[in-house]
Amino acid sequence: MSGMKKDNETTIELADRVMFQTYGRYPLALVRGEGCRLWDEEGNSYLDFVAGIAVCSLGHASPVVSRALETQAKTLVHVSNLYYTRPQAELAQLLVENSFADRVFFCNSGAEANEAAIKLARIYAKEHSGRERYRIIAMENSFHGRTMATLSATGQAKVRKGFEPLLEGFSFVPFNDPAALDRALDDTVCGVLMEPIQGEGGVVPADPSYLEAVRTMCSERGALLIFDEIQVGMGRTGKLFAHEHYGVRPDIMTLAKALGNGLPIGAMLSRESVAGAFAPGTHATTFGGTPLVTAVSKAVVESLLRDGWIDHCREVGAYFKEKLQELKGRHACVKDVRGLGLILAIELDRAGAPVVEACMKEGLLINCTQDRVLRFIPPLVVERAEIDELTGALDRILGQAD
Ligand SMILES: *Cc1c(COP(=O)(O)O)cnc(C)c1O
Repeated sequence: MSGMKKDNETTIELADRVMFQTYGRYPLALVRGEGCRLWDEEGNSYLDFVAGIAVCSLGHASPVVSRALETQAKTLVHVSNLYYTRPQAELAQLLVENSFADRVFFCNSGAEANEAAIKLARIYAKEHSGRERYRIIAMENSFHGRTMATLSATGQAKVRKGFEPLLEGFSFVPFNDPAALDRALDDTVCGVLMEPIQGEGGVVPADPSYLEAVRTMCSERGALLIFDEIQVGMGRTGKLFAHEHYGVRPDIMTLAKALGNGLPIGAMLSRESVAGAFAPGTHATTFGGTPLVTAVSKAVVESLLRDGWIDHCREVGAYFKEKLQELKGRHACVKDVRGLGLILAIELDRAGAPVVEACMKEGLLINCTQDRVLRFIPPLVVERAEIDELTGALDRILGQAD
């Protein structure tokens, strides 16, 4: 029986015995972190260029997080959304004051934030058009989550496979192709859902002219534009939100990942006119915006804005990208360098997994998406010396691949 206790079982053996095998994990059991460093059970240390998938922007064991967490844990952890709490309202205020949006809905993850956005777009269209208008257009190679609605909105076959029938009313157009959207965007479409920079899709930024064209088409045809900034928001690109680089505003925006620096929180933001479609009773979640999580998130966002981390991200990101360009110049296997701020990537002409493994052996954690794209999403507090350590190791490792 798999549930039977075994003596001297390692963490990896135990987890592999009793947990769903939904993750293809590396054989690494992590116990502790500090800044950009992580330690495993054997005491080996690693430089972390994954940051929990663009989550721990202030680094591990950040005093900003631990202080807010301790204070709020001793005060009030959870009450129902039947009541008001100050941390929730103040985090919403902070997000509203620093974005295009007028109102915020809190939830617990990225997928939930996108679920909320999809529901809002549909109910808004129902209220405002008085006709059948529920279709959502999303992008090929996008990623929006793993719930039924969000995987139905995800333009990657591997995410959808096996879960059919998918939710009705989602279609896909190629990213950065305005003509394709022009053909697809008719009066049955209530929303266009997209990442300004595709993350899981391989760090692919939207062309500025494309984003402008999408905005214009949505406005002219009465579809809401939804930006999924779950991965690229909260300073990751060197501005608080990625769409600020483009000067194009969405009607709805979703956030999660770095919003809580590791505590589970998601958010959906919109302008007043759109938010009105969600009346009391239309949408809810038990844990959404608990005082504990929002107090921590507020401290995190305040630190990002106050302590210069977004400027730091822009500066060291530019330095990092230069270093990656140098690698491209020296190694034929590097085909492309992409990204902005501290979401950067190199595309190889071959599988990236062996490079990820070689890095891990040298105490460096990086991530690979789309088989051949090495993605670098370190904490925003990463220093030049740490970037040098990674690019130095990559230089050696890629040299062996050439
Ligand atoms: C991670 C991610 C999601 C899903 O977030 P979860 O918290 O894992 O549900 C959605 N969209 C984008 C762009 C993401 O990177």
